[in-house]
Amino acid sequence: MDFIRDYADWFYLIGAVLFILTLRGLSGPKTAIAGNRYGMIAMAIAVLTTFFVAENPVVWMIIGAMVLGAIVGIARARTVPMTQMPETVALMHSLVGLAAVLIAVAAIIHNNKLAELDVGLLQANGVNFHEMSKVHLFELFVGCFVGAITFTASVFAYGKLAAKKWAKTISGVWVKPVQALIFIAMLGFGVHFFLTGNMTSFWAMTGLALAFGWVWIAPVGGGDMPVVVSLLNSFSGWAAAGIGFTLENNMLIVAGSLVGSSGAILSYIMCKAMNRSIINVLFGGAMGGAAPVVAVGDKAPRNHRSGSADDAGFLMSNADSVVIVPGYGMAQGRAQNAVKELANILKEQGVTVRFAIHPVAGRMPGHMNVLLAEADVPYEDILEMDEINSDFPATDVVLVIGANDVVNPAAKDDPSSPIYGMPILEAHKARTIMVIKRSMATGYAGLDNDLFYNDKTMMIFGDAKKVVEDMTKAINGNGH
Ligand code: NDP
Repeated sequence: MDFIRDYADWFYLIGAVLFILTLRGLSGPKTAIAGNRYGMIAMAIAVLTTFFVAENPVVWMIIGAMVLGAIVGIARARTVPMTQMPETVALMHSLVGLAAVLIAVAAIIHNNKLAELDVGLLQANGVNFHEMSKVHLFELFVGCFVGAITFTASVFAYGKLAAKKWAKTISGVWVKPVQALIFIAMLGFGVHFFLTGNMTSFWAMTGLALAFGWVWIAPVGGGDMPVVVSLLNSFSGWAAAGIGFTLENNMLIVAGSLVGSSGAILSYIMCKAMNRSIINVLFGGAMGGAAPVVAVGDKAPRNHRSGSADDAGFLMSNADSVVIVPGYGMAQGRAQNAVKELANILKEQGVTVRFAIHPVAGRMPGHMNVLLAEADVPYEDILEMDEINSDFPATDVVLVIGANDVVNPAAKDDPSSPIYGMPILEAHKARTIMVIKRSMATGYAGLDNDLFYNDKTMMIFGDAKKVVEDMTKAINGNGH
């Protein structure tokens, strides 16, 4: 195994290149599978090389941890439903944050213990010991506090997305001063630790960073959670990179930086898609989910028109063009395969069928793309918001399947709406609008939706899968 040890940097370089190819592959649905494969190979190279370059490794501990991690990971990957992916991702980020904290703590304790020993004795036993440099202390300081914030913030994000009772959104005038106080105290103790190496300051900084992660994310509203999860992804990368410096592991520095920067870019793209600034998302208080500003009951009752799956099937089969807008309800109802069947039947009848995807439809970035890919919907039929929006006025029928916030026209024409300014799929401009959902209930942001009361809209109530199957039957001429 000397070979691996001698050429470790080369193996790490190959791993780094493969990680870059992974990100490139993951940028499009067609290349995503190859991207995932590159990632798996790169990770295997990274783990094996690190295993062989480790000095005095406690082999049973490393293998035990790898086996345990693999069992938990495989079990979770096999059982997690698609709808629970966002909270699973948040939970995984929390583990990266926790690992960063634990490594920083271990490195400092280890260093302090060595410092207590006789240098001559250490050298006689082949241990090279140097006083911890300022650069080293700074890495530990950054890795530890970023890791601690990532840990508690990700645990909260998990609780919020999984609708756990303990993950309550907090609000009030006290929130911002408390956030500021904790942050300043955390920095103060961190700087003191950096300057003096004082352990009490280190523990205080770590404790305050853990508390800050919680009070920082707890006021963020449900509608902003996707951006937060993506930002935490970025944080977990930077924490890993910081720890890479501590462990003097180039692979961890490179992989951490890649995760850090790609997460930051994704957060930026998502903020742009919601017309919000990152500062506004993180410190602007609750938007959506937690604090519905316009509840359905606040307004006078309004009329809507409803119809059956048979009516809808008839109308669609007589249309020239149909655009399907999927949302969280399609995921919740596991309707993607039924939707693909419907699209196929319509195409066989000569109808042009396309799918319109909003960047934050569903409950995680790319949620709809993943589901449609799973159902083998051709990629060329799937269009992003910017590509399809100008086509809606010339579209005969838009079929909204379990989407709500992402087609809410209030985002365009109601300045008092909390989602005002967020780009939407302009379904309201189509000639005929059909909406499948189970009731007139609000979506994730808790906002009423004018689209459902539009004169051109027909509501078709029911579970997404059942309604879509009934539409397909109706078009096939087997309607009941
Ligand atoms: P919404 O949550 O706005 O609306 C989904 C609609 O689907 C609901 O109104 C619900 O109505 C309906 N529905 C639920 N289950 C079913 C079912 N089985 N059959 C039929 N209909 C169903 O979803 P959108 O996709 O439009 O918007 C996503 C929202 O989630 C945005 O506010 C976004 O900011 C937020 N978000 C997005 C994340 C992401 O990364 N994409 C992550 C976290 C939040 P009813 O109950 O009447 O059936």
